[in-house]
Amino acid sequence: SFNAFVVNKSDAGFSAGVQQLTLDDLPAGNVTVRVRYSSVNYKDGLACLPESPVVTAYPMVPGIDIAGTVAESDDPRFTAGQEVVAIGRGLGTDHFGGYAEYARVSADWLEPLPEGLTAKEAMALGTAGFTAALSIQRLEDNGLRPGDGPVLVTGATGGVGSTAVNMLAGLGYEVAASTGKAEEHDYLRGLGATQLLGREDVSAASPAPVEAERWAAGIDPVGGDTLAYLLRTTRYGGTVASCGLTGGLALTTTVVPFIVRGVSLLGIDSVMCPENVRATVWRRLGTDLKPKSLAESISQEIGLDEIPEVTSRILAGAVRGRTIVRL
Ligand code: NAP
Repeated sequence: SFNAFVVNKSDAGFSAGVQQLTLDDLPAGNVTVRVRYSSVNYKDGLACLPESPVVTAYPMVPGIDIAGTVAESDDPRFTAGQEVVAIGRGLGTDHFGGYAEYARVSADWLEPLPEGLTAKEAMALGTAGFTAALSIQRLEDNGLRPGDGPVLVTGATGGVGSTAVNMLAGLGYEVAASTGKAEEHDYLRGLGATQLLGREDVSAASPAPVEAERWAAGIDPVGGDTLAYLLRTTRYGGTVASCGLTGGLALTTTVVPFIVRGVSLLGIDSVMCPENVRATVWRRLGTDLKPKSLAESISQEIGLDEIPEVTSRILAGAVRGRTIVRL
């Protein structure tokens, strides 16, 4: 048997905690992985709620990110002992995820551990870092280049935000960061942000459909009023990547930024991201997008028993950077 963090709902009510599972408890799949690290994303916070909006079946092992070693494989693409990663694909919400010493998954969901990353670094990045990198890739596909002007990252102390700030700065972009945590301005400067804004600066309502042009581009894990702010302050021809919802689902805007400023809005999805893009993004995560401050200031490590505390804090917007779960 092995350790797993399990959420369950039964006649006895909701439960969440560490328990023992056996390999027979794992779902169907053609590769069994000895998980070494997982991580805590906002979605994992949602998975641990008693009324979870993301878990589709109980019991569930949360953990949308997995890094580990192949224990057994019925698929020719993977062999025992090989280091692999998997993110998204319904892991931790529809299919047992990474908060267990073993996971059984489809080979289609696995990638070899990218060159340039250890398993721990891959999980310090995880879905959040992948999403930051995918946002940058999409902005660059749409023409963004260092030197174009400031790029605003919102929710900047979070997982997506911290990795996005550090990646952009590493590429030579001028980075602005907005945060609700005034006490973390030095942290964000350390990651490479040169301009800091408060959460209220980027979420205030405005009667004007467009305001002074400020940003060459934006990466927005916050959504809601903050995405509306970004659209009306992005410069002519600029691009905004929408990748999250911690500030709200509803978007109230006008078409003016699109039809008068030529601003583009890109939708970013890591979960079902197509294979060719996924491979490019993982390759860049191990090379030019690998955040310089990943180990020393962005990430911290916890054990399975500390998951409930961190998932509550992430839902309250109180976590800084990324949390790695050690198995
Ligand atoms: P996270 O670590 O909790 O970061 C979110 C940050 O948003 C917080 O640290 C906080 O930053 C800010 N925030 C929190 N509550 C807020 C509020 N009420 N109003 C405004 N800002 C608030 O979470 P994450 O794992 O990085 O994920 C961020 C978002 O991206 C989530 O909505 C997640 O579901 C989404 N996401 C989407 C994808 C995708 O595929 N599209 C992938 C990964 C994540 P400050 O304190 O610095 O303001």
